[in-house]
Amino acid sequence: MLNINEIRKDFLILNTFVHGKPLVYLDNAATTQKPRSVIEAVQHYYAGENANIHRGIHQLSHAATKKYENVRDKIKNFVHAEKTEEIVFVRGATEAINLVAQTYGRSQVGEGDEILVSHMEHHSNIVPWQMLCEKKGAVLKVIPINDAGEIILEEYEELISPRTKIVSVTHMSNALGTINPIKEIIKTAHDKGVPVLVDGAQAVSHMSVDVQDLDCDFYVFSAHKMFGPTGIGVLYGKKELMEKMPPYQGGGDMILSVTFEKTKYHDLPHKFEAGTPAIASVMGLGAAVDYIHNVGLDNVAKYEEELLHYATEKLLKIPHLRMIGTSQNKAGVLSFVMEGIHPHDVGTILDKEGIAVRAGHHCAQPVMDRFQVPATSRASLALYNTRKEIDLLAQGLLKVLNVFK
Ligand code: PLP
Repeated sequence: MLNINEIRKDFLILNTFVHGKPLVYLDNAATTQKPRSVIEAVQHYYAGENANIHRGIHQLSHAATKKYENVRDKIKNFVHAEKTEEIVFVRGATEAINLVAQTYGRSQVGEGDEILVSHMEHHSNIVPWQMLCEKKGAVLKVIPINDAGEIILEEYEELISPRTKIVSVTHMSNALGTINPIKEIIKTAHDKGVPVLVDGAQAVSHMSVDVQDLDCDFYVFSAHKMFGPTGIGVLYGKKELMEKMPPYQGGGDMILSVTFEKTKYHDLPHKFEAGTPAIASVMGLGAAVDYIHNVGLDNVAKYEEELLHYATEKLLKIPHLRMIGTSQNKAGVLSFVMEGIHPHDVGTILDKEGIAVRAGHHCAQPVMDRFQVPATSRASLALYNTRKEIDLLAQGLLKVLNVFK
């Protein structure tokens, strides 16, 4: 059982006011708030431990390197990877997908080859592949979804051809909340010899992830969506695959030796970490993982499931509201439209009530097109949200209706 009152005390921002009203933060799919321990970890690093890593011979540099590499170990345990060198620090999910597209993709994908993504992907899991396809003359194929916002598995299987070089799908949709049957999706691809990248940007703060059990080839996520800092994220990749991939960016730290004639690249994971990384953010990410670990992701999943159920029932009672994304298996996202009212107006009126939701296409324009809406309003939940906040959201939406009566 979660003690939500205690948890809320860890997030100082939840006590602030917006337009004179207590903040109701329901934009967690965009970014989550940060607990005190994460903020302190970043501050502590700068105040007492700041040094560059991997290259100094002095004590501060050794200590910073050790802490940085400890976080890599924590991440390995967090996603249940087999080896620490399978964990690469990147700027976020977006950079991780670009890295795979530009390294695995550039070396493995050729003219006429195919890449499969689903209709519910975030732009960051579409555009890097499109760029690759443009460069290579490859084809991007789209796995269709049904009216509930679920991948149509039979059609997915039929789309995999001898030319398919990679399947790249989201674990959980940011626009719909759908949790995809990712293990089944991976197995289907593997049966045909095709590797799979899983975009875990939304999933990691809502459910525990075991990359070995899933057997995914790549798994990507961003720290800022799991209570950590911005500017840092993770690429997990199977060692055998990543060893064969060429480096992404060149520079310091990713080399063993450099001459003008020949550069020898470093081993994993450093081969993919050129330049000084976001060291302080890594410290914050480590604290975020500790925080999640202490709360317990299974407790979080259970609590959020109940809250989502409560919120769904509450919102469906609002006249003229239509939910977009009604998958059987979904997590804390409520995406909706209100007949005759633009989502931006919904968002603006709610903001005046201190309620932060997102309004727009959520960087997932193709899925908006699929549901024939230009945009939705989206309330997205995290472990610190309460039933009372959902009640305030529902009251706010009744006010929206009143304004447009
Ligand atoms: N994938 C999904 C499903 C997302 O929701 C997001 C961000 O909203 C991303 C990828 C990109 O994450 P970032 O902007 O942190 O790189």
